[in-house]
Amino acid sequence: MEDKKTNGQLLNEKLTHSSEYIWEKIDEKEKELVFKFSEGYKKFLNSSKTERECAAFTVKMAEEKGFVSIDSLGKDNKLTPGMKVYQVNRNKSVVLAVIGKKGLENGVNIVGAHIDSPRIDLKQNPVYEDTGMVLLKTHYYGGIKKYQWVTIPLALHGVVVKVNGDVVDVNIGEEDNDPVFTITDLLPHLAQDQMQKKMSEAITGEGLNVLFGSIPYDDDKVKDKVKLNILKLLNDKYGITEEDFVSADLEIVPAFKASDVGLDRSFVGGYGQDDRVCSYAALDAILNTNDVDKTAICLLTDKEEIGSMGNTGAQSVFFENFLAKICFLSTDNYNDIILRSCLSNSTMLSADVNSGVDPNYEGVQDKRNASYMGKGIILQKYTGSRGKAGGSEANPEFIAKLRKIFNENNISWQTGEIGKVDKGGGGTIAQFLANLGVEVIDCGVAVLSMHSPFEITSKIDIYTMAKAYNVFYKNIIS
Ligand code: MN
Ligand code: MN
Repeated sequence: MEDKKTNGQLLNEKLTHSSEYIWEKIDEKEKELVFKFSEGYKKFLNSSKTERECAAFTVKMAEEKGFVSIDSLGKDNKLTPGMKVYQVNRNKSVVLAVIGKKGLENGVNIVGAHIDSPRIDLKQNPVYEDTGMVLLKTHYYGGIKKYQWVTIPLALHGVVVKVNGDVVDVNIGEEDNDPVFTITDLLPHLAQDQMQKKMSEAITGEGLNVLFGSIPYDDDKVKDKVKLNILKLLNDKYGITEEDFVSADLEIVPAFKASDVGLDRSFVGGYGQDDRVCSYAALDAILNTNDVDKTAICLLTDKEEIGSMGNTGAQSVFFENFLAKICFLSTDNYNDIILRSCLSNSTMLSADVNSGVDPNYEGVQDKRNASYMGKGIILQKYTGSRGKAGGSEANPEFIAKLRKIFNENNISWQTGEIGKVDKGGGGTIAQFLANLGVEVIDCGVAVLSMHSPFEITSKIDIYTMAKAYNVFYKNIIS
């Protein structure tokens, strides 16, 4: 028989709060579900290395689950409860909705993530020849540590739009027999000066040139023969010329696939998990949502890594326009007040990753307020840096309601902040939706090696996150 708990033990249970490692709490059956879920996630990571590829994947999955494009509906095609619609914005961001029973003026429940990730973009005039080799000029995208991107296999993904409007899809480096590309580094023997430099300066942005070829075109009358041969190969395969690079989105991303990490396979390692890990969980949750009271929305945006700017980012009116459209299609007497009420009565989980505590890097986090790998989703009250500047802060009234529904539905959660006060910081899309009047909190999972070519997440966190988003959609918060 178990010893009876002491008064102190009972009081301790009642009064103190701590979060637990979820692996300790689940049985073998649930572990199986966790591992199964991560298989689908890894496939998603491997097939969706750019925002365009994520958007296309999302549409394919959504259509299989009965979602229809809102642009295919006429103005007399009224939306009714249970209907599932989506809209794609310039092939780079997507929004999906499951229409609820309550009128849209009562607000919607949104899970919003971003599908762009840090990477290296090609410049508009990328191809040049030097020392008998062809290289590609680049400009990195988002907050990368440049030294992490040299001497690894890289793939080239994206689109080139020809002057006649034809869009050419490019994807080189993913198939087993594809070539890969790389950015070289200096040999240690000659790196005496480089090794003395600050890490931020040892590899320069302008020095991130991609090795692309070295066989010359056989004609001595031509000046840059290797470049010409590369342009010929590109023209043979894609029908493009050098000028076509001017109108292209071409992204250099790691060529390797996502894999299990750890002998117990408890982690997923792979490129682009910020923020495709939350995007995948949000997508999974909305695809498995039917029959809701309040309309459920999954918003997948672009350009978060550079500030959510532009007409595909969270600062654009795309989302507002989509809401206006579903309000219009759901009511007989649409007016602007319906949209305004919808926005101010809406709630949102800003689904983005947080920095997990890493035993290799002590001292950057307040361990009492940091988030941990394997302790579930993070209710992150505020972002920003140096006095919370430039971030978003959730209202405690909203957080209390979330605690309630997560506790009632057995969702393991923890709190978190990105790091120690005055150590740095960051923002998410939360603030832009908050500006519209939506009640928002940051709520994602912890990541190790964030923004690196090989980011690490915990499988139990990913699984918990998808469950949490599903619970959020199903429970009215008013
Ligand atoms: Mn992010
Ligand atoms: Mn990021």
